[in-house]
Amino acid sequence: MAAMDRYAVIGHPVGHSLSPRIHALFAQSTGQPVTYTAIEAPLDGFAATVDHFRAQGGRGINVTVPFKLQACAYADEVSERARAAGAANALAFDADGRCRAENFDGVGLLRDLTHNLGLSLAGCRVLLLGAGGAARGVLQPLLQARPAVLLVANRSADKAHALVRDFQALGLGGPELAGAALSDLPAAGAFDLVINATAASLDAQALPLPRSVFAPDGLAYDMVYGKGLTPFLRQAREAGVARLADGLGMLVEQAADSFAWWRGMRPATDTVIAHLRTPLR
Ligand code: NDP
Repeated sequence: MAAMDRYAVIGHPVGHSLSPRIHALFAQSTGQPVTYTAIEAPLDGFAATVDHFRAQGGRGINVTVPFKLQACAYADEVSERARAAGAANALAFDADGRCRAENFDGVGLLRDLTHNLGLSLAGCRVLLLGAGGAARGVLQPLLQARPAVLLVANRSADKAHALVRDFQALGLGGPELAGAALSDLPAAGAFDLVINATAASLDAQALPLPRSVFAPDGLAYDMVYGKGLTPFLRQAREAGVARLADGLGMLVEQAADSFAWWRGMRPATDTVIAHLRTPLR
């Protein structure tokens, strides 16, 4: 039997991660000789855990909360996407001993929105809720899709404004990009796409959102997955939005991009998404 190449997801906590199941399905469908496990690193031990995994022959990792910033700092080479996001969700360990960092969260979201959900973002009004790592990670690919408006709204308004300023300073956002407080939203109009990139759904907390932000023929997207109909998705449905999605597709698409980056072939994602999907109710 061919020797297996080793990959893993490193986080804290990491027991809930679907990534090992997703990558096992990818290995099965592509016939690639890979194993993929979940490793919990101590909060103060990310670099030591990665070093140990590499010393044992590990070829690459995905990185999840709370280590995405540290993953960027760990790498010898950081892609433009990861630099703009200020965070990496994938590392590759090359045979020459170098470590490269990438961030596939944003392209995963975009592929889910455009390819799986059939949305065309050009000219759309987009509302991005949250200004943490997940929002930062998806901002560049969202801007590249040329929405007419991309409003970043956060509970702490200063963080939304700082995020917008950072991207404008990098030349990545023009007049379409603006920041706001959640309390500004009643005057903001309706949006074709409302993305929840806050952590509120993890604790089943509702955001103070006016009905008016949801265009009834629009799409509401919660980056959280596996939580069914979250308070955010329920708010959207009650406001008349018919199209609701959770973040499972984003997770599977970023996993496929990581796999392709490491192995040189992109696995099919539709059957994996269908296999892992839980109903939104
Ligand atoms: P961070 O901790 O970096 O940021 C959290 C954000 O959520 C901040 O903007 C914070 O606002 C806001 N927030 C938290 N609780 C509340 C609340 N009760 N009301 C209003 N705002 C709140 O987290 P991440 O950005 O890393 O992750 C955000 C979410 O995205 C998580 O749920 C995560 O699971 C999901 N995610 C999904 C992925 C996927 O592949 N589907 C990939 C990456 C993330 P403030 O600044 O005011 O504190």
